[in-house]
Amino acid sequence: MKALVYTAPGNMELKEWKLPELESGFARIKVKYCGICGSDMGIYAGTHPRTEAPLIPGHEFVGIIEEINGSKRGFCKGDRVVPFPLISCGHCISCRSGRPYICQTLRLIGIDFDGGMAEYAVVDENQLVKVDDRLPDPIAALIEPFAVAVRAVHQSKFTFLDNALVMGAGPIGILTALALRRSGASKIILSDIDDRRIALCKKMGFDCVNSGDVFLPDYISDETGGDGMDFVFECSGTEPATYEATNLARMQGTVCMVGIHKKPHVSNLPELSFKEQTLVATRDYSRQEFEGAAKYAVEMKEELEQLISHIIPLSQAENVFELIKNQEGETVKVLIDCR
Ligand SMILES: [Zn+2]
Ligand SMILES: [Zn+2]
Repeated sequence: MKALVYTAPGNMELKEWKLPELESGFARIKVKYCGICGSDMGIYAGTHPRTEAPLIPGHEFVGIIEEINGSKRGFCKGDRVVPFPLISCGHCISCRSGRPYICQTLRLIGIDFDGGMAEYAVVDENQLVKVDDRLPDPIAALIEPFAVAVRAVHQSKFTFLDNALVMGAGPIGILTALALRRSGASKIILSDIDDRRIALCKKMGFDCVNSGDVFLPDYISDETGGDGMDFVFECSGTEPATYEATNLARMQGTVCMVGIHKKPHVSNLPELSFKEQTLVATRDYSRQEFEGAAKYAVEMKEELEQLISHIIPLSQAENVFELIKNQEGETVKVLIDCR
């Protein structure tokens, strides 16, 4: 089969690749679409702490079961599925206490094992989740990042009529804003520094400001009558946003860290203490949250679809990582068409 293979830092090569044997309980999936995530960009750059070449990346994919070796869970040929990509050890303290998504040795399909940027993927049926017939294929590839946003909202303990600022209007920031809107937010403000992403947010009906042009503390103060936001979701992974977040959240407000920070960025802890704020972090999602995102995506398909900025055929996907690296603002969610 054809596969996009990470061979060395800065190198993704379209190669002829041999599929592994179909062990008992495993399914061969004909991949339809596979999304490219921030962590895939880390793999490409060679900065992902665990990934070793050669590897087929891709943990955000949808496909059809073409063959399954002895299903015990009722899957059969022709089922449309997405993989729940988290694989936990089952015996560490997190796993023993019912939180396998923060397993101490958590591994992921597409990061530690071959993933979906290929014509086929071989996946343990225990990892598979069926996709609702009403959900179009490309949107099903967004279930995984949407699950990240669902978890962020759950972790933050956001409730109906609270307001929120989302810092960073990349895919995760916009998905978080969508989840907040569906959760009954009384006001949602997004901030970013890229005008194209800001324009997209506005098109989707969000209030979105350019934090390079507008002085955000003044803007938030004006918008909240001087109170500050109930919730700030840090989705940019940058130091200025991290530092500013506590200043923008209200007394006893919550700052939720969603973005991936590649180094220990400075945060304003005196402000956090003084305001008795809650700082909460979120990393991935539980199985329930993932399955919930898969179900609920049907209700949100029109909104989710707007995030897909590019669909690139697998045959031309070698250079797509360079495109995302150089055109961060222009690309939002990029999918690889693996059919
Ligand atoms: Zn992802
Ligand atoms: Zn574990």
